[in-house]
Amino acid sequence: MKICKTYEIEGIVQGVGFRPFVFMLAKKYLLNGFVYNRSVGVYAEVEGEEELISKFEFELQNHPPVLAHIDKITQKTVPLQNFTDFKILKSKASFSKNTPISPDISLCPDCLREMRDKNNRRFGYVLINCTNCGPRYSIIKTVPYDRINTSMSVFEMCEECRAEYNDPSNRRYHAQPISCPKCGPKITFTDIRGGFKTDTEPLEKLAKAIKSGKITALKGLGGFHIICDASNESTVKLLREKKRRPAKPFAILMASLEMAKEYCDITECEQEALLSREKPIVLVKKRNALNDIIAPHTDRLGIFLPYTGLLVGICELVGRPLIATSANISGEPIITTAKEIENKLGGIVDAYVDFDREIINFCDDSVVQFAGKNSIFLRLSRGYAPKSFKTSYECKEKILALGAHQKSTIAVFNDTNITISPYIGDLESIKSIEMFERTIDTFRRFYDFNPSLLVCDKHPHYASVMWAKRQNMPIIEVQHHYAHILSIMFEHDIKDEVLGISWDGTGFGDDKTIWGGEFFLCDLKHYKRVYSFKPFKLLGGDGSIKNIDRIAFSILYPAKDNAVAAAFLDNFSKEQKYLLEQSYKKDINALLCSSVGRLFDAAAAIILKQKSVTYDGESGLYLEALYDKSVQDRYAVVIDKNGMVEYIHWFLGMLEDEPKVAASKFINTLAALTVHIAKKQRKKVVLGGGVFQNRTLVEKIAELLEKEHIEFFLAKSISPNDSSIALGQITYALNNL
Ligand code: ZN
Ligand code: ZN
Ligand code: FE
Repeated sequence: MKICKTYEIEGIVQGVGFRPFVFMLAKKYLLNGFVYNRSVGVYAEVEGEEELISKFEFELQNHPPVLAHIDKITQKTVPLQNFTDFKILKSKASFSKNTPISPDISLCPDCLREMRDKNNRRFGYVLINCTNCGPRYSIIKTVPYDRINTSMSVFEMCEECRAEYNDPSNRRYHAQPISCPKCGPKITFTDIRGGFKTDTEPLEKLAKAIKSGKITALKGLGGFHIICDASNESTVKLLREKKRRPAKPFAILMASLEMAKEYCDITECEQEALLSREKPIVLVKKRNALNDIIAPHTDRLGIFLPYTGLLVGICELVGRPLIATSANISGEPIITTAKEIENKLGGIVDAYVDFDREIINFCDDSVVQFAGKNSIFLRLSRGYAPKSFKTSYECKEKILALGAHQKSTIAVFNDTNITISPYIGDLESIKSIEMFERTIDTFRRFYDFNPSLLVCDKHPHYASVMWAKRQNMPIIEVQHHYAHILSIMFEHDIKDEVLGISWDGTGFGDDKTIWGGEFFLCDLKHYKRVYSFKPFKLLGGDGSIKNIDRIAFSILYPAKDNAVAAAFLDNFSKEQKYLLEQSYKKDINALLCSSVGRLFDAAAAIILKQKSVTYDGESGLYLEALYDKSVQDRYAVVIDKNGMVEYIHWFLGMLEDEPKVAASKFINTLAALTVHIAKKQRKKVVLGGGVFQNRTLVEKIAELLEKEHIEFFLAKSISPNDSSIALGQITYALNNL
């Protein structure tokens, strides 16, 4: 019997070859009707034999295109329309723009094959892409996702490309960024020192510069990379000096998995992530170091595989591991234009390769590592973000969450969807704040979104909070560490009361002190701080956190009568000691702080005799490198009658223990503490906050909690760090309106 059905398909269904997929499916099952894109997704009407329609439906649901992500299909049976063929109709904009935007996707195997095929018309064309791969978020100005709304709109398709674009059976049917050597963006090489620009053999020239030890830049999907030869120690040294980046590890671009395995030990999970179509930077164990200054004092190395034709090309031409780090000024967002490369990094970069497809929305590389099989995202950006969640919340408000301060992201709630932006940066420079505002504008455009409610942190000095307060709109403020826990409760759809363990860098506490070592009993509406680390004095205030030896001073000062502690305190110069003592005794510039992140700093200061750190997470990384699995010992877990965790005796112990033993015992103790408290509370445990980026700690905690059969949850597809605060803020707003 003939029937007619309509389908409303929501999710990531635009720019991923969904309409041609429906078209081919309709042809396969001899169905007539039409399909088109609209603002809320894809709409189709399909008419034919009932039995064939159900087969169509099965494939629609179960075998969509690789990049598609279906959130919801709404179907209806309607009267017969007597269609005579199947058509793909023009996009229709309707009332709400609510289609999730696809992240940028790495070069697909089909395109790679064509790029390497001498007989293909795109042989050697490094900007090759198709419906399954290439730029998306980074080139979109507004929705619907049509070429006219992207930065490809200025390139007129040649006849051949147009034919492919219009042929539903072609794998580039409606591939909006479609192009070829004839009609696509032009690639150029610029020698800043030599003062010339050329479009002949640009990549070859770049490769030559890299091989000769030059520092170069290469435009990618969401921004420029700084690229140089990782095996050339003096170049890497020079890059460190010029970028004023003394110690933070550089990511390494490996030409292939085989090359990566020459230098690193790679587990199955890590390999899977490296080869995935998101192609993030994966932190793996380094075996035979290229040279120590790439990632000093750590046993980890961030590596990734080429994810665009350009990166494939440069890897093949150079044939060595390359440093490929985001082109930016420290803490600022990634650079997206050649002009900025020249203006801001002209003193660092000797030459660069550019092309004239504009990057509309910047997007950094994503970074992930694994604790056993658990993924820990350090940065959720290219390939993953914007990240959308379909929710069951029915709420009329349009909510904009402004996130935290460091590792800034924003999130929006619009008609049941939550979308998190890619990583923006630390909101500590004018440029970063500008990019933060730009991201808000971008999201407004994408989703036709005018917020009716803002959600932000409680810290009065965060740029995101100050921005919110300037808008003259209803605002909800959410405590930072509670937001960390809420983001993970949202991710795992947890609605009951949990023990939330929120260990972090620094965040504004309800008592106006700095929190960061908190144990909450909380659900989606309320939280109660049941335990906390005993606060210590952060001498010099928030701004002093780079000087980790001062943190150790402050922690050990109350034990100054102990000989070992006194010996440590005597390491400071007389003047310094006097100033720190005064600050301690008179509470001058001494904020109370319960942050576990800062305890890691103090531990590193004591164990490694390190005075300062230059990047976030540095102390943890060094302690992990010292961790010895064979050390089962730990310091005593002591909680006072007010629920405050005592730890001075840990630090006194660390002063006497061997570095490896001290680092291992410190991490073991933190893990034991979580289990100790979890056993008292008998609730599901949710662990959030930047400290849980530490894989060794996470592994140890997982091991101990599993042994006790305690159910626990970690950030899985989102990051445990401040980039997920915006999601936690939205979760709070949705549950408390
Ligand atoms: Zn492709
Ligand atoms: Zn063309
Ligand atoms: Fe935080």
